[in-house]
Amino acid sequence: MVMNAVNQHFPGASEEGAYIATTATTLAKLGFNKDNTLPVLAVCRDEICGSFVQAAEAQWGNSFTLGGLAGLPFGGKTGMGAASHHAPDKYDRERFVIYAMAHIGFGPEGEIGGCVRPGMEHLSGACGALKAYSSMRAEGNLPEKIFADDAEYGLLVQRLGKVVPEGEADLLTITNAALAAIKEDIAALSSGVLNAEKCDYAVFTGTQIHLPDSHLVAPSDSWVVAGGQRQEINFTAG
Ligand SMILES: [Zn+2]
Repeated sequence: MVMNAVNQHFPGASEEGAYIATTATTLAKLGFNKDNTLPVLAVCRDEICGSFVQAAEAQWGNSFTLGGLAGLPFGGKTGMGAASHHAPDKYDRERFVIYAMAHIGFGPEGEIGGCVRPGMEHLSGACGALKAYSSMRAEGNLPEKIFADDAEYGLLVQRLGKVVPEGEADLLTITNAALAAIKEDIAALSSGVLNAEKCDYAVFTGTQIHLPDSHLVAPSDSWVVAGGQRQEINFTAG
């Protein structure tokens, strides 16, 4: 039942380990490998995203954390700027692989936003920050300023306000809007900060999907800039 719901909303999703392997195979043809590449991750802080981080780090080595609540790359120019100085520089080019992901849970009955966590008897939620946003938006009490003790959520509210459509919006709509913001922001950060004259970089965006017993990735816009040339990466061929 849960896969019916997933396939309806995220056709083309694959198991996260297989997804990471596919990205590595694609990049290997362009000269990226574990020794010469720094991974940069923008995924949600949620521990449920940890298996993706582990899979990416098993493939590429320790990662730079650019992401915050909901996977938005809140590390910003300063974070990306710091990462830009950390890639191995003893090879022909400096190389970065960036994964920037929204995420959402599915419960055993296909409940959108439901999340089964180890040791928890009750269904919890993912993404929790987006669920909080969804509830507060529906109640009309979203914060109108950024509070120092909840700064990242304030940033999230401001950013989502520019991409969530007017009117009622369910969690799926809000998650897709978050992905749109992630794509826009990671594109601007990577092209704005990384120097394509001396480095090659790949950007993979998509949505992590948490099932009761596994984690999937539904790929979205992905591209690589190598030798100063941008090419799109298409996952539909498998
Ligand atoms: Zn989250």
